[in-house]
Amino acid sequence: MLEAANLSVSYGRHRALDHVSLSVSPGEILVVLGANGAGKSTLLKGLAGLVRPAPGARISIGGKDISNIPAHRVVEAGLALVPEGRGVFGALTVRENLLLGAHPAHARHGEAARLEGILSLFPRLTERMGQAVRTMSGGEQQMVAIGRALMSAPEILALDEPSLGLSPLMAGELFRALTRIRAGGTGILLVEQNARRSLAIADRGILLEGGHIVGGGSAASLAADPAVRRAYLGASETEAA
Ligand code: ATP
Repeated sequence: MLEAANLSVSYGRHRALDHVSLSVSPGEILVVLGANGAGKSTLLKGLAGLVRPAPGARISIGGKDISNIPAHRVVEAGLALVPEGRGVFGALTVRENLLLGAHPAHARHGEAARLEGILSLFPRLTERMGQAVRTMSGGEQQMVAIGRALMSAPEILALDEPSLGLSPLMAGELFRALTRIRAGGTGILLVEQNARRSLAIADRGILLEGGHIVGGGSAASLAADPAVRRAYLGASETEAA
């Protein structure tokens, strides 16, 4: 279980995240909704050790304190981040990218079985194992990025806007894959701009505005809330929902 309490992050004098607390249990999807600049990416970076939280934050995973430890040790502790823009190595092949994800000591054991699991999750990667990642479509690259994160055998998978720029078909495939990852017991922290699709697969959601949590609840209650629908589901999206 991932637990964060009192997480604040400032960039110079600008406070991007203010006393945020959340938890993600094994086998659940928590979605974070918020407008541009709400602090969603900062939240993930603060949890992943990529930006330093203000003193007083407490972050733990599986009961282990991971506040103020470097990013590579956060991965070792069980939190893997798929960053916005994916962070894959374009010049390397799919296989090389995936194997790079298995660097934590606990992940090297059982690497072959994990690779097999990822290929059953994303079968289209199977015939692309020797292909340079930069020559692949955005959706395929996102699969590689998620696969690489899964190779670290995370307890919690955090994703920053994974459906951004993908076709509706590809986004649908991606969201289905997330439900299968959840079924395997991994907890998922999902930052998304696609509120309709993400609430459809999530268990719970929180609403972030100006660095503060301004609401939250079950995904079903959020999807049915008129204020949430107005703020996060555009009129056309609401009609399509
Ligand atoms: P988006 O959906 O547009 O990515 P977001 O909710 O992920 O938005 P953040 O990227 O976390 O928002 O940014 C939160 C606030 O912090 C914004 O006002 C942003 O301009 C500011 N910010 C983010 N990164 C930095 C940085 N490296 N230096 C200074 N300010 C930053």
